[in-house]
Amino acid sequence: MTLTPRAEALKGTLLRFMDECVYPAEKPYEAVLAKQSNRFEVPALLEELKAEAKARGLWNLFLPESEHGAGLTNAEYAPLCEVMGRSPFLAPEACNCSAPDTGNMEVLARYGSSDQKSEWLEPLLEGRIRSCFAMTEPAVASSDATNIACSIDRDGDSYVVNGRKWWTTGAMDPRCAVAIVMGKSNPEASRHRQQSMILVPMNAPGLSIVRSLSVFGYDEAPHGHAEILLENVRVPVANLLLGEGRGFEIAQGRLGPGRIHHCMRLIGMAERALEATCRRAIERVAFGKTLAEQGALRHKVAQCRIAIDQSRLLTLHAAARMDAVGNQVARAEIAMIKVVAPQMALDVLDFAIQVHGAGGVSPDFPLASFWAGARTLRLADGPDEVHLESLAKMEFDKYGARRTERAVH
Ligand SMILES: Cc1cc2nc3c(=O)[nH]c(=O)nc-3n(C[C@H](O)[C@H](O)[C@H](O)COP(=O)(O)OP(=O)(O)OC[C@H]3O[C@@H](n4cnc5c(N)ncnc54)[C@H](O)[C@@H]3O)c2cc1C
Repeated sequence: MTLTPRAEALKGTLLRFMDECVYPAEKPYEAVLAKQSNRFEVPALLEELKAEAKARGLWNLFLPESEHGAGLTNAEYAPLCEVMGRSPFLAPEACNCSAPDTGNMEVLARYGSSDQKSEWLEPLLEGRIRSCFAMTEPAVASSDATNIACSIDRDGDSYVVNGRKWWTTGAMDPRCAVAIVMGKSNPEASRHRQQSMILVPMNAPGLSIVRSLSVFGYDEAPHGHAEILLENVRVPVANLLLGEGRGFEIAQGRLGPGRIHHCMRLIGMAERALEATCRRAIERVAFGKTLAEQGALRHKVAQCRIAIDQSRLLTLHAAARMDAVGNQVARAEIAMIKVVAPQMALDVLDFAIQVHGAGGVSPDFPLASFWAGARTLRLADGPDEVHLESLAKMEFDKYGARRTERAVH
């Protein structure tokens, strides 16, 4: 697909930034993290990269049609986000384009009051603080957001929040200043009007980090994932987002762009893995031939190329649909890529690991950590089955399945 001139120019700048600053910083960044006694301290290198990206105009590229960001369409942002995905632990944050802050900034930009924007959105846009999104709870099946049990109770001029959250990404980061917490404010209301979202400062009395959760042993420092306890956390009424009972609506709006961004980054990760695979296979000799000359390997390389390009095309199609008809109408395309991209990346990464031999599972190459990250995306932002179920429902609805169900009852 042809890029618009502004996306083309930004892509060129981004590619140079990756070559000159990001890839060379990867190993030193890991080395600093490994030496720190506190894993969740933020290495200075990251802040230096942020300053450099900002100076090069590579900042807040994710924000569509906004006075704050680059104002790119989803289709324009897709190839840029893919490039950032090639170095998923550094590049997205360096450009202030990393999850969960992007989704939180979109929520604040779209639904925040002017006070909420000046208190939280502005420092987030400037990269001075970070944020987290606390929906999932250990006690309930959180893929169904209507199960969320955390309570948000009105008491005079305050709301009192009580609940236990886990897998709150970014909450271990010392710069994380605010959480968007989803809970129930109206348990008697209809199923999708019970939930609200509220801004809770991370230093609010009653909020405590119970533990850091690792992914297949990776703590993903310095951002991490946390289990959080909220015990009688009192925040002003003004911290509620949009209004009581509007949490589900915000969650729907938040997840569309977030999901497609994950897919774009996964394509970048897969592309980097295939590149590493081919380079290695050309040099490495086994049984008198390079790996690249071994028949079994060659067809798999071809299949990876097909799979990556198929995913990219579907992602670009979803991005174009989001631009043309909005996130809600494009929900089928978003669901499709959310199922396709993580599995594609996992397949490509698994093959890349195999071709790298034992090196593939070692920390000398990024493949194992990429695989761990990609695997979580078959769960996070909706497990595969939930997206498949939505797609199946939309498909059956075309043929009047709803009418049949009603007729039966
Ligand atoms: C690395 C990582 C980061 C995360 N970051 C965040 C975050 O920042 N904030 C946050 O709030 N949450 C976060 N999550 C949580 C994530 O969004 C949830 O794990 C996800 O929504 C699933 O909820 P659950 O774990 O409660 O699984 P459950 O709801 O218990 O579901 C378990 C399994 O049941 C099956 N299932 C569920 N529904 C259906 C269905 N309709 N049909 C068929 N099968 C079904 C699926 O196989 C599913 O995996 C993160 C998770 C991970 C792993």
